Amino acid sequence: MKVAVLKETAPGERRVALVPEAVTKLRAAGHEVMVEAGAGDGAWLSDDTFTEAGASIASRADLVATADAILTVGRPDDSAIASFHPGQGVLGMFAPLGDRAFAQRLADTGITAVSLDLIPRTLPRAQAMDALTSQANIAGYKAAVLAADTFGRFFPLLITAAGTARPARVLVLGTGVAGLQAIGTAHRLGAVVSAYDVRPETKTETESLGATFIELTSVGPASGEGGYARALTDEERQAQQEELAGHIARHDVVITTAQVPGRRPPLLVTGDALKSMTAGSVIVDMGASELGGNVAGSRPGETVVTENGVTIVGATNLPSAMPAASSAMYARNISSLLLYLVKDGSIAVDLSDELQRGVVITYEGRVVHPALAEPAGGTDVDGASH
Ligand code: NAD
Repeated sequence: MKVAVLKETAPGERRVALVPEAVTKLRAAGHEVMVEAGAGDGAWLSDDTFTEAGASIASRADLVATADAILTVGRPDDSAIASFHPGQGVLGMFAPLGDRAFAQRLADTGITAVSLDLIPRTLPRAQAMDALTSQANIAGYKAAVLAADTFGRFFPLLITAAGTARPARVLVLGTGVAGLQAIGTAHRLGAVVSAYDVRPETKTETESLGATFIELTSVGPASGEGGYARALTDEERQAQQEELAGHIARHDVVITTAQVPGRRPPLLVTGDALKSMTAGSVIVDMGASELGGNVAGSRPGETVVTENGVTIVGATNLPSAMPAASSAMYARNISSLLLYLVKDGSIAVDLSDELQRGVVITYEGRVVHPALAEPAGGTDVDGASH
């Protein structure tokens, strides 16, 4: 099979879908690998490093014309989509939930589109392919480092001849993959860390990383399906915001990571909660998006400072800020998934397979993913949380 790696075109995206080690792995499995010229530049991987691993370097037009499978990190751009042809497999993280129109555009080209960000996380055999987890891990680490870098004081307790610095008080909201990594990182940097999640089953992991788990009295457990939370009711949401505000006021740094897949990020830090924070406090909102984030007033890709001196970082693509690590992990995920899908030299779609049903979004000209197939089914991005 001919496997092609596209150079990413999204602004600021530095990751690449394969690294040389993964090229070697795919070649050992009998596949030919082509890489678009300059695709690895953002991750400090020159074209030469790919050719040394056995790949050939080609122009985008040549790759797309001849490849059986095309690998990307994010969504391909319009010109790439226009040149895809029926039967091609295209693998990447397409964030299709809530954007049926995009899925339909892919379906119209006749490609088999496979979205790694939809991997069913609870399937043990999917672990090696779980790009959402690998990238969220990196993002959680980077969020804590970014928070420490932005904060104008120390994270650790420091006793010096010039005075004593008390440790920073860090609050992590949402203790999924990114949140747990943020907790561990902030703790290793010496901060005193507290954390909260609506899924009480995350308490043990939180405590094992050295943080205190906050339990709210006004909101009960809200565990949903597949290891995710359910969306809260309006009453629960309001009670949560009000009770959390008291905790937020007592912290110097807040890192927010709360999400329910396919929905608008829940608002956890309200305008009133922001006003209660002291000048110099820092918030990193990992949920920041065009749909709104976990924090009132956060803007995706921007850093804003409130009137009372709270810095809110609207973090959008933290994995791209660590392109070598994130590309290496992503390459392992996408190459494992590709090898899983290939039978007898081509991608063999089998929608009776739970893993495939989770990730294949278009096939033979149709949108086939259960969460996207019906116009309104499962595509609700409006958790009405704002
Ligand atoms: P995850 O699903 O593993 O964790 C999300 C957590 O939020 C879950 O534990 C869930 O129980 C919790 N949650 C949901 N609703 C809540 C609520 N109302 N109150 C408290 N907790 C609630 O997701 P993840 O992979 O850790 O990603 C977390 C967030 O970070 C997502 O929004 C994701 O899109 C984002 N993310 C951002 C970047 C970036 O660069 N900014 C990178 C990766 C992930």
